[in-house]
Amino acid sequence: MQVKNVCPPPTFAAGDKRHGFHILRVEQISEIRVTAYEIEHERTGAKLLHLHCDDRENLFSIGFRTPPRDSTGVPHILEHSVLAGSERYPLKDVFNELLRGTLQTFINAFTYPDKTIYPVASQEKRDFFNLARVYADLVLRPRLLRETFLQEGHHLEFDANGELAVSGIVFNEMKGAYSSPEALMYKAIQGNLYPETPYACDSEGDPERIPDLTYEQFRAFHRTFYSPTNARLFLSGNIPTEEHLAFLAEILAGFDRVTLDSSIPIHATASKLGFSGDPLATSATGTGKRISDGPSLLFISSLWPRRCGSAADVHASLLAGTAARCSRLMDWREAPGQKRMAISSADSSARSVRAIIEAQLRAERRSRYDRQLERLVRQLLYSKRSEINFIKSSSQ
Ligand SMILES: [Zn+2]
Repeated sequence: MQVKNVCPPPTFAAGDKRHGFHILRVEQISEIRVTAYEIEHERTGAKLLHLHCDDRENLFSIGFRTPPRDSTGVPHILEHSVLAGSERYPLKDVFNELLRGTLQTFINAFTYPDKTIYPVASQEKRDFFNLARVYADLVLRPRLLRETFLQEGHHLEFDANGELAVSGIVFNEMKGAYSSPEALMYKAIQGNLYPETPYACDSEGDPERIPDLTYEQFRAFHRTFYSPTNARLFLSGNIPTEEHLAFLAEILAGFDRVTLDSSIPIHATASKLGFSGDPLATSATGTGKRISDGPSLLFISSLWPRRCGSAADVHASLLAGTAARCSRLMDWREAPGQKRMAISSADSSARSVRAIIEAQLRAERRSRYDRQLERLVRQLLYSKRSEINFIKSSSQ
């Protein structure tokens, strides 16, 4: 079989208007045999990218910037909830109907720290447009019933002991995620690296915070961010752009441009970066009920000035040294007037992090950063101002 090694001929030029859309840019990308169209919907401002290629598997994806302002997991709970029916498709679990009852080759939904996307694909054109129509309707016009919020988010129910306890699909899912020390470590590192930004929040939801979310806040989040103005549509495959535009004009009819700010702020600390030799922000996250309660993990993450080396180097070094340093700390614990501290890194997840990262370090840097690490750990453990959070991990 001969593979056509060319991009499809362009069917529009920049500046063209069709079906209420404005073609902003057309580019042929020969490496991937694609003709790319960047398009904007004039009425709503919805942005669209179509990668036209000779592939009969067509993909439709609608996504929104959904930066969270807290860790109640509202983007994640919405991701689950919109798929539970719209006015036009008032079924209890449309997602599973589409999964089983169509010729889809891919269907899913993803919550990221700053966006939520809903992709679906099929090799059969009629099936593709049917899937895209239902998916877009679910996302743009969901019912968001109170029962759905309670079921997907959180509610109270009697547990096996007859006690009232919080439950909910996302709540339970996140309780599972928060029982992994490694997952907690990455969440803590991300929060420490990007303070004052949405990345410091957990878009998936912290089980401690999920029950704070109200039904009204949940609906308001959808109203704010799930508008075509904030949407990014992505299409790929062999269906001509013209057909997509005719289809999308119908999907987006009835919506107007709205004013909203979904931009990601640059945090104040990062804009003031200078070299002092000290980390700009430091915090440690440990697991275990009490520090002297047997094996615990201590995870340290910090924000360093850029001139200190690449961020990856500093972090790699800090983390690589942590396990070794913490065990050496046990020798420091008798420092006069200091609180007795005993930390051991007996957990294999700490060792795996250490092993992966150590390989990337160069020897001369190691000793320099090891000294910084030593000072950092001392600061953390012995300074009254330092903050060490201990996570109640169910794996303990
Ligand atoms: Zn989920």
